[in-house]
Amino acid sequence: MPDFIGQKIKLAVDKAEKILSDQKIVKVPVDIESIAKSMGIDVTKIEFSKDEISGAIKMKGKQGNPIIAINQNHCIERQRFTIAHEIGHFVLHSIDNMHIDSAGVYFRDSNASSSTTNLKEAQANQFAAEILMPRGLVIKDLQGDFKLKNNNEDIMTIAKLAKKYNVSQQAMMIRIGGLVI
Ligand SMILES: [Zn+2]
Repeated sequence: MPDFIGQKIKLAVDKAEKILSDQKIVKVPVDIESIAKSMGIDVTKIEFSKDEISGAIKMKGKQGNPIIAINQNHCIERQRFTIAHEIGHFVLHSIDNMHIDSAGVYFRDSNASSSTTNLKEAQANQFAAEILMPRGLVIKDLQGDFKLKNNNEDIMTIAKLAKKYNVSQQAMMIRIGGLVI
């Protein structure tokens, strides 16, 4: 990984870890809505015109606070990841007015080159993974009750772990792959 990208991702990790330690979060599932609230961000669940939209952040909602809107039709695990992802944009990026996230397509950043946009999305995803699946806790679980054995049982173990953290199995799988302990 080129240094520049590595540093940007590290920044996302650091920001998430700082929030976890400032708020003394040591238990999962992480209450991501409370974290948003503690930062003065309102969270609302709505129906979007397009179902592929997972969520958005608007810097100034009707109440004057920043507001994260998430797609109420998506499953709870996905909603939680989206809230965390939008908080990531909030702490890492300067958002003009609004940022909308859609499955694989990102709007509103038309001025930025696509690689800049992709890097921002990667940072927000890393932030979300970090805050919902705190590194230290996942590692402890993988070394304890959720040891992977490199056999057919692993899929069940990952499913149980995902349930414990209230994230999707896919998100947990990516997280474990990224930890490589
Ligand atoms: Zn995004």
